[in-house]
Amino acid sequence: MVVLTPTAKKFLVGIVPGIAAAALYWYTTLPSEPSALLEEFVSFSPYLLIAIAAGLGWFFNHHRIVYAMGLLGLSYAAITSLGIAGELSQQQRFIVNSLAFFLPLNFLAVSALQERRAFFTMRTLTFIILVAFQITTMYWLYGLYPRQMYNLLMFPMSTGHELASWIHLPFPVLFSYGFVITAMIVRLARNYSVLEAGMLWTLIITLLAFNTEGQHPHFALFVTLSTFILTVSLLQTWYDFAYLDQLTGLPGRLALNETAKNVSGDYVVAMVDVDFFKKCNDAYGHDVGDQILKLVASKLRQVGGGGIAFRYGGEEFLILFPNKHIKDAFPHLAALREAVEESHMILRSKPRPAIKPASVPARKQPLRYINVTVSIGLAEKSETSDSVNHVIKAADEALYRAKERGRNRLSL
Ligand code: GH3
Ligand code: MG
Ligand code: MG
Repeated sequence: MVVLTPTAKKFLVGIVPGIAAAALYWYTTLPSEPSALLEEFVSFSPYLLIAIAAGLGWFFNHHRIVYAMGLLGLSYAAITSLGIAGELSQQQRFIVNSLAFFLPLNFLAVSALQERRAFFTMRTLTFIILVAFQITTMYWLYGLYPRQMYNLLMFPMSTGHELASWIHLPFPVLFSYGFVITAMIVRLARNYSVLEAGMLWTLIITLLAFNTEGQHPHFALFVTLSTFILTVSLLQTWYDFAYLDQLTGLPGRLALNETAKNVSGDYVVAMVDVDFFKKCNDAYGHDVGDQILKLVASKLRQVGGGGIAFRYGGEEFLILFPNKHIKDAFPHLAALREAVEESHMILRSKPRPAIKPASVPARKQPLRYINVTVSIGLAEKSETSDSVNHVIKAADEALYRAKERGRNRLSL
C-alpha cells in the first residue's frame, strides 16, 4: 500500500488532472484525422463514464455526484443530438452556449448541497423543476426574440469579434464559468476534500469541452476525461474512508494490516502513547483531547528515517520503519519525542471563530498551554520475534517500561 502524505496527495489531486487536461487539449489542436478506433471509443465512452460515476455516487450515497452527472449527461445528449459537423448554425451555437452558460451555475448549486441519506426528496423535485425552467425559458425567449437573444448570449462573437483565435466561448459563458470556478476554489481553500477537488476539475474540463463547440470527437473526449477524473476522485474518497483515520488523517488499522502483510526484511516498530491523556480529557474535555491527538499526529507524520505513522487506536500510534534497525530509528524517535514536548498546545477559552475578526480584543488572561508528552517503546524484528504481531507486542512491552520509568521517554 502506498501511503501518501496529505500534502503529496493534495499536490497529486491538484496537478495530475491538470496535466491530463493540458495533454488532451494539446492533442485536440493537432490537425490529424480521428482514427476509426477513436471514433469507436468516443461513441460509448462519455455515456459509460457518466453512468459509472453516477452509479458509484448513488451506491456510496454521494447524491450530489448523481445530480452533477445527470446535468452533464443531459448537456452531452443535447449537444450530440444536434449532429454538429463543421461550421455551426446560429441556432446550434445558441444551444451549445446556453448549455455552457447554465451547466456551471447548476454545478455550483449541486456542490453546495448537503448530502442527505434519501435520494428522492423535495430538493430533487425542486432541482428538476429549476432545470426544466431554464430550458423552457431559453427556448421560449429564443422563439420570441431570436436576434436579440443571440446577440446577448453570444457577445462579443455576435458583433463579429473574437476574444482570441482559440477562445470559442462568448462573454456570458466565460463569466458564468469564472464565477463558479472562483467560488469553488474559495470553498476548497476553506475546506479541502478530494471529492470537491474532483468536482472542480470536472467542471474545468467541461469548459474545455464546450470550447470545442461540440465538435466530434474532441467534445466527447473532454467529457470522457472530466467524468473519469470525477470517478477517480470518488474512489479515492472511499479509499481514504477505509484506510485513513478520520480524526487525524493518518493511516489507520486497516492500512497497517495491509502494510504488515507486505513487510519483509528488517524493520523497527515503535509504539507511541500520549502521557496522561485521560487526565487531559477529564480536565479540558473531549474536544481538546481530539485537538491534542491531531497535534501529536502532525508531529508523527513528520518523523524522519522513513518511518510510516499509523493511528493504532485511541491515543496510541504506531510507527513502522522498514529496512531499519533500532540504532537507525532511535535518533528520529528521540527527535519526535522532543518535538512533541516542545509543541505547546494553546488552550482557547472559546473555539476559534469561523471568520477572522477585524480586531482582536486584548487578552484578559494570559494564554494557557497544555504540555503534551509521549512515551515510546521500540522493538525490531529478531529471531525470537519474527512476525509483525510479535514485534508489535514487544514494542508494547517496551512502552509499558517507558511509562513505568516516568513517561516522556523512549524505552527498548
Ligand atoms: P498513560 O500515561 O498511562 O498512557 O495514561 P493515559 O491516561 O494516557 O492512558 P489511558 O489508556 O488510561 O487513557 C486513554 C484515554 O484516551 C481513554 C479514552 O477516553 C481516551 N481516548 C481514546 N480515544 C480517544 C479519542 O479519539 N479522542 C479523545 N478525546 N479521547 C480518546
Ligand atoms: Mg496514554
Ligand atoms: Mg494508552
